[in-house]
Amino acid sequence: MEASGDEVSSPGDMNLVVVGAGGRMGQTLIRTIHAIDGARLAGAIERPGSPHIGHDAGEVAGVGLLGVTISDDPLPAFAAAEGVLDFTSPAATVEFAMLSAQARIVHVIGTTGCSAADEEKIHAAARHAIIVKSGNMSLGVNLLAVLVEKAAKALGPDDFDIEILEMHHKHKVDAPSGTALLLGEAAAEGRGIDLAAQSVRVRDGHTGGRENGTIGFASLRGGSVVGDHSVILAGTGERITLSHHADDRTIFARGAVKAALWARGRKPGLYSMLDVLNLND
Ligand code: NAP
Repeated sequence: MEASGDEVSSPGDMNLVVVGAGGRMGQTLIRTIHAIDGARLAGAIERPGSPHIGHDAGEVAGVGLLGVTISDDPLPAFAAAEGVLDFTSPAATVEFAMLSAQARIVHVIGTTGCSAADEEKIHAAARHAIIVKSGNMSLGVNLLAVLVEKAAKALGPDDFDIEILEMHHKHKVDAPSGTALLLGEAAAEGRGIDLAAQSVRVRDGHTGGRENGTIGFASLRGGSVVGDHSVILAGTGERITLSHHADDRTIFARGAVKAALWARGRKPGLYSMLDVLNLND
């Protein structure tokens, strides 16, 4: 699939396939690749039966004809590409990870809500694919995670309780958000505890008092909110709140393209945005 139209690309540009091309993030990724130097849209995939199949990816994303037709067949697209940008659903992402492994290419995964079994399959695919996976691809949230880890380490469980609050648009299907879990993992890392064993995901009815050392989550859904997150460290008589507000999905798309360019030519493995942004010390 050759890109044409008014897209200007150079021979060294990285050929990228966007899967879930008709989705909110898929369309943002197509616009971002079109606007950014060093990357080129080489394919666009949607699930079989999608009304977007057969349409030009650029037209669907609102940037005009790009000469890349949205298809439901990932195989030829992956075979001709160097990387895949994937913000879809857990089941689709697991399939795409296996195909990326077969093609031995870069797979940037932004999809959230993956189960432990999904994560295992993605891990296995990373033996052959170069996978960068993160619940949030923005610089701001990844920096926030570093600050949360530091704060959680400095302010112990006897003095400070940690609660994570998130709000997203009404179409979001998973909760807590991938970003809330990423921030929870950072807090747990700072405290030296296992998040799965210490998290409180839901409170309802007569719950009793708060158990010391746990990390609580609360999710709000409504309107068109792109993503708001606050990590609250609540002590006796004082409260520290570390927050991030996403106003525009472009921050995630730019991070995803940056991750693909960073991963190009690296060894197969499972990397995070902390690796990409060099925040992993
Ligand atoms: P969305 O608008 O629903 O987009 C998902 C797209 O993937 C849809 O077009 C969907 O098609 C498509 N899809 C599903 N299964 C597919 C398959 N087997 N093959 C090809 N395409 C398939 O959702 P979104 O808001 O863009 O979010 C997508 C994911 O990214 C979510 O998990 C979200 O939490 C996550 N996200 C992550 C970040 C981050 O920085 N990591 C940022 C934002 C969002 P249909 O609608 O036709 O099923």
